[in-house]
Amino acid sequence: MALIVQKFGGTSVASTDRIKNVAKRVARWRAQGHDIILVPSAMAGETNRLIGLAREISPAPDPRELDVIASTGEQVTIGLLAMAMHAEGLKAKSFTGFQVGVLTDSTFTKARILKIDQHRIRKALADGHVVVVAGFQGADEHGNITTLGRGGSDTSAVALAAAMKADECQIYTDVDGVYTTDPRVVPEARKLDNITFEEMLEMASLGSKVLQIRSVEFAGKYKVKLRVLSSFEEEGEGTLITVEEKGNMEQPIISGIAFNRDEAKLTVLGVPDRPGIAYQILGPIADANIDVDMIIQNIGRDDTTDFSFTVNRTDYGKALAILETVKERIGARDITGDTTICKVSAVGVGMRSHPGVASKMFGALAKENINLQMISTSEIKISVVIEERYLELAVRVLHKAFGLEKPPKSKLGLTGRGETDIITPS
Ligand code: ASP
Ligand code: MG
Repeated sequence: MALIVQKFGGTSVASTDRIKNVAKRVARWRAQGHDIILVPSAMAGETNRLIGLAREISPAPDPRELDVIASTGEQVTIGLLAMAMHAEGLKAKSFTGFQVGVLTDSTFTKARILKIDQHRIRKALADGHVVVVAGFQGADEHGNITTLGRGGSDTSAVALAAAMKADECQIYTDVDGVYTTDPRVVPEARKLDNITFEEMLEMASLGSKVLQIRSVEFAGKYKVKLRVLSSFEEEGEGTLITVEEKGNMEQPIISGIAFNRDEAKLTVLGVPDRPGIAYQILGPIADANIDVDMIIQNIGRDDTTDFSFTVNRTDYGKALAILETVKERIGARDITGDTTICKVSAVGVGMRSHPGVASKMFGALAKENINLQMISTSEIKISVVIEERYLELAVRVLHKAFGLEKPPKSKLGLTGRGETDIITPS
C-alpha cells in the first residue's frame, strides 16, 4: 500500500466521460489499498476561456481578480471528479487550494507555493476518502486566491507529493512519456524510460512542454519520485524522472534533442571595449523584465566589439526599443536584430564523462551546411542558434547522429531496476 499523488491534465478531464474514466481508474487503485490524492487541471480549454472572458471586460485585467476567475476551472473538475468517484462507490472529497491550505506568496498569476498544510488531507485520507485537490491554485497569507502560472497544476501535484511524502507523483497527460525529441519533427523519436531531473529541466526550459518547469525543480529539490504517464493507455510505465546515478556506464551520452522556435537575436555593433559595457546593455533589458538567454561578446578590435544576445521572440520589439536608447548612451555604432532564428540543443548528463560531444554535434550540422550563429554550453547541454528554416533538418540530423532512435543497450534504469518499478493496479 502506497500514497500516490495523481495529476490529471486538461485533456484527461476534458469531458464528463473522461472524468468517469478517471474515476474508474482510481477505483482500481483503491481496490489495491493505495491512498490516492488526485490533482486535476481544469477541463481542456477552460482556463483559456476564463481568461478570455476577463479580457473582454478589460484588456489588462486586475491580476487579483484574474486569479479569482482563472482558478474556477479547477474547482469544477474537483467537484465532478468527486461525484464520479461516488458513482463508483468510493468515498471522495474535493478541496480547493485555499481549503486544504496551499499557502503561496502574493504574486498573482504566477504565485509560488510556500507551505502546504497536511492536516485536512491526512484526516480525509484516514477517513477512507480519495482526496481531490484543485491544481494550479492556492491562497496568500491574506486569503487572496492565487494561481501558479500556466501549467501550474503540475507544480501543485509535485508540491503536494513533497508535503505529504507520497511514494510517487504520477502526471497523467496526453502523451505516454518524455521523448528523445518531438515526434512531430522526428517520427523515430523514442519514449525514454528514464530521464534525470537535470535533463528534464533542460528539456522543459528548451521548450519540451510535458511538464511545467517549476514542478521539475520542485521534484528535484524535494526528491519526489515523479513519473509521466498517458491517461489514455492503461499499459506502459511512462517516463520516470530520476536522480542521476554516478558511474552508470549504460547511460546514454545524449538523452534528447530539444529545440525552441521562440527566439530572437539582437546585436549591438561597435560597442566601446571597456569595463561595464555588458552591464550597461543588459541592465536596462533586465529592468524591463526581459529574460536574456545566450550572450556572446566578440574579441575587441580597434577598441570596439560586437555584443549579441537572444531573447524570447515576444520580447524582441521591446528589447530593440531599449537598445536604441542604450546605443546613444554608450556610443555604439548600430543595432541589428533577427527574429528568424531558433535554438537547437543536445541534452544529456552522459556528456559529463564523454568528451567529443560538441565536435560530433558541430560535425553533423556542418555536413548539412547549417551555419552556427551562436553556441553555448553547460555541463549537460550544448545549444546552437541557427536559422529557423533549418530547425527540422538540424533536429533530425542530430537525433540520428547520436543514435537516439535506437533503444539504449541496457534497460536497467538509472536508479536500478528495483527502484524504478511502477506501482500499478493489477
Ligand atoms: N488550468 C491551468 C492552465 O491551463 C493549469 C494547468 O492546466 O496546469 O494553465
Ligand atoms: Mg499541462
